[in-house]
Amino acid sequence: MPHLGSGAGAGCGTKVRFEILRDRWQGVNGRAMSLQRRLTLFFIAIVMLPLIAAGYVVRYVVVGEVERRSEMSLEPALGTSVALYKAGVDSLDELVRLSSGSRRFASLLDEGDRPAMSRYLGSHLRDSNQADFLIALDRRGRLAGAYRLPARFATGFETPSASEIARAAGRDSGASGYASRKFPLRSGGRPSGAVIAGFWIDERFLESFAASEAGLAAVSNGRAIASTVPLGESIDLPDATGIYDVAGLGIARVETLTAGTNLIAFVSGAPIDALSTRVLYSMLGLLILALVLTSVLAYLLARLITQPLHELTEGAAAIAAGRFGHQIPVRSRDEVGRLTTVFNEMSEELRGKMGELSSSRDLLQRTVQRVGETLRSTHDMRSILDSILNTAADAVSADAAILWTFNPTRAELYPAITRDIQADDFDRVPVGHGLVGHVAERGVSVLRSTATDKPRPAATEPDLPVSIVVPIYSQERIMSVMTLYRHSDDTPFTTANLDTVAFLADQGRVAIENVILHEEAQRLSITDGLTGVWNRRFFQMQFRTVLAQAMRFDRPFSILMLDLDHFKQVNDSLGHQRGDATLIEFAQRVGDALREVDTFARYGGEEFICMLSETDFAGATITAEKILEHIRAEPFRGVGEKPIDLTASIGVASYPLHGDSYQTLVAVADQALYRAKQEGRNRVCTPGGPPPNLQVAR
Ligand code: GH3
Ligand code: MG
Ligand code: MG
Repeated sequence: MPHLGSGAGAGCGTKVRFEILRDRWQGVNGRAMSLQRRLTLFFIAIVMLPLIAAGYVVRYVVVGEVERRSEMSLEPALGTSVALYKAGVDSLDELVRLSSGSRRFASLLDEGDRPAMSRYLGSHLRDSNQADFLIALDRRGRLAGAYRLPARFATGFETPSASEIARAAGRDSGASGYASRKFPLRSGGRPSGAVIAGFWIDERFLESFAASEAGLAAVSNGRAIASTVPLGESIDLPDATGIYDVAGLGIARVETLTAGTNLIAFVSGAPIDALSTRVLYSMLGLLILALVLTSVLAYLLARLITQPLHELTEGAAAIAAGRFGHQIPVRSRDEVGRLTTVFNEMSEELRGKMGELSSSRDLLQRTVQRVGETLRSTHDMRSILDSILNTAADAVSADAAILWTFNPTRAELYPAITRDIQADDFDRVPVGHGLVGHVAERGVSVLRSTATDKPRPAATEPDLPVSIVVPIYSQERIMSVMTLYRHSDDTPFTTANLDTVAFLADQGRVAIENVILHEEAQRLSITDGLTGVWNRRFFQMQFRTVLAQAMRFDRPFSILMLDLDHFKQVNDSLGHQRGDATLIEFAQRVGDALREVDTFARYGGEEFICMLSETDFAGATITAEKILEHIRAEPFRGVGEKPIDLTASIGVASYPLHGDSYQTLVAVADQALYRAKQEGRNRVCTPGGPPPNLQVAR
């Protein structure tokens, strides 16, 4: 059901209309009205509204004043007319006295000769020029003679007859169209008759007063009996004293002349109407001119105000587009000028800061690159981890940092490297516990911004409110966990910080994998894969070094060739694996019998070779015996396996006694070994046979 003109509905509509207007004004929706246009309209409004009001007032004041002056101009015209009228009435006395005072008049009255009387009265009237008619009455009141000048009344009115005037003179009601006075006559103390004198209130009478632009009319019973200007029939003439605005006539002022006749002075309304129209058009012309001028000025003023705003907007857009340092010309010293100056300073500052930022970014990039190079070139695991931790801590301005690594069982983590924090203050963290344990278990990075963020650190971890925890991977496995801390949560780490640390951890991963690969390659190239002792290649390298040293300082050294006795049987009876395990144990036992400076290598199969630095032939023979004792000392036994009694044979050769090259010395030692085998095994043999002065133990 629609609401029929309910108050709420109407109010809502108004509100909606208002909001549409307001939005359009403020340019909220759709097409925006620009600030410049709004200002222009505003300026036009504040100039034009008072002008329009002033024009309205001026027009009414001017027209009103003209009307008032017109009214006032009627007063003297009317006053003069009335005064002249009264003077005319007063002068009738004199005329009557002159005309009725003569004997001729008395005798004519007595004789009753009306034509003669009329001629007599006519001659007086013409001479005096003070009246329009003279009428003589006899003692009985009968007409004794009359003379009338013709009247000029408006069409439809006739000149009153002498008897009409005589009848009217006897009444009090007064007459219309003329002014008259009746003078009684006496003779010998008795009434002898009367004389009536008067003048027409006709057009001639009115024209004699017509001095100003005002028109005059004599009105009787609402009808104009005479007028200086022709009057239309339809005009409704006023009948009582006062001022009127009469349609078709203009402004009129009315005064009463006689009981039946009013005098109206009037000025035409046409000039006032014309004036009003003229004033109206002048005002409209002025307003249009003012509107044009105001529009131009308002446009220029609005442009002047909004121009700097446009420039500021463009400046801000330039900065948003990354053109830092964009400058706007300062055109004034006012608020806008100051704003522009501040903008320029800000823009300049921004350029400086961006410059600093980009140079610090370049520095960071170079640092990261350098760190990367360092990481790639260093093959020491400890210094790589150190470098990762320090670079990460520097990059994010951490207050403290720790690198945690796993224990051998990978069940716990312990602080391996620390920076700006005491490692003694905390302890191992089980995997899955606390912050470090969480990251070690899940393999995901954590950014903690406040002390209440989860996961919380374990009791054995540092309890600092702000931290970044990142796992460091190596060969698909978490190798360690890096933690970076800040003491106060006033300056928490950002996700950008987290990204940086993660990036460095990834760089670290590559470096660590490099180290492991390098170490592995290194190890494989110089050690024996099964027993872990040096291989023949390394032995040869080492031999060259030791030989050069020995030659230079004229010092002895010796080599031993070792071969397990009947080793084939071990393989055959107990299997190849057991044979391998036996070889490993053999290498360990020999290694235990040697010094750090000696070089022990696998020569091939179950043959081994030793180089004893600074050891002459006799010393070498003693060492060889010591080795055999270590082998014989107890049976070889794997866990839960059958023990094996093993022996070995050793051939000895010494520098410079038996040769001064690798080939000769190895060949001599090999021959000695061969002889040891020949002579029954489990013994040491020298190139010339068993060593002299040495009891071979059995
Ligand atoms: P003897 O030296 O006393 O003359 O007898 P032997 O049985 O030890 O003979 P020889 O030295 O010629 O035999 C070498 C055997 O060692 C052959 C091979 O089966 C075994 N052997 C060599 N290298 C390995 C190895 O790496 N692992 C195992 N399990 N056996 C090896
Ligand atoms: Mg052999
Ligand atoms: Mg053998």
